[in-house]
Amino acid sequence: MRIHSFESLATLDGDGVRYAIYFNGCPLRCVYCHNPDTWGVSGEDYSAEDLFNKVKRYKPYFGQNGGVTFSGGEPLLSASFINEVNSYLKTENIKYALDTSGQVDMTDDVKEAINNSDLVILDLKFWDNDSYYKYTRKTMMKTITMLYYLAAIQKRTWIRTVIVPGINDSKEVLDKYIDIVKQFPHVEKYELLGFHTMGFFKYENLGIDNPLKDTPALSQDVLKDLQNYVDNKLKN
Ligand code: SF4
Repeated sequence: MRIHSFESLATLDGDGVRYAIYFNGCPLRCVYCHNPDTWGVSGEDYSAEDLFNKVKRYKPYFGQNGGVTFSGGEPLLSASFINEVNSYLKTENIKYALDTSGQVDMTDDVKEAINNSDLVILDLKFWDNDSYYKYTRKTMMKTITMLYYLAAIQKRTWIRTVIVPGINDSKEVLDKYIDIVKQFPHVEKYELLGFHTMGFFKYENLGIDNPLKDTPALSQDVLKDLQNYVDNKLKN
């Protein structure tokens, strides 16, 4: 399997210390994507065993809560490979999280990868079918289908949304996301992430149009205010 890239000792994508593995390929074309370099195929080839041996070196840093995070691109496009890697990970009790848009069919391989994960971090990118289609070029049905599956099996789930100035940075729009999240009481955390411009250079390098090239990064103050708003609404 061709793996796009790695990030060791990451802390954002799951509990504790993470070893993030970024897969190639993505069914979406989010306007705010900061990883357009994962859309094609790049990086190096690994067998499941090679990947496990790479991960295993970081086991001492994982502690009780840390582990691997499969990210991308869309990691669940490579669900059967994840299941193969997991056959090695479990021999060392190394846990993994999935960072996914949910935009895959719920095949047996996908269900197995979800069932064996410790945590699913699901991106709820936009708030209804029209907005989802406008900004990603797909509808949100597969994401919602996955949310129902996660609820049915009571899988630990975090939901995340990237907040983009001028698109979804108002409380009126956030209320629509909150209405969805509230339907899934098993969700442990709803986390907002601020749009940033650090991936802009990738669009230039790849020679592709950046639809948000004139959009500024979201300020940390606005992000904090919106996160407080969401947290309070979800408490009530
Ligand atoms: S799902 Fe992630 S990798 Fe795919 S286009 Fe959207 S932001 Fe980019």
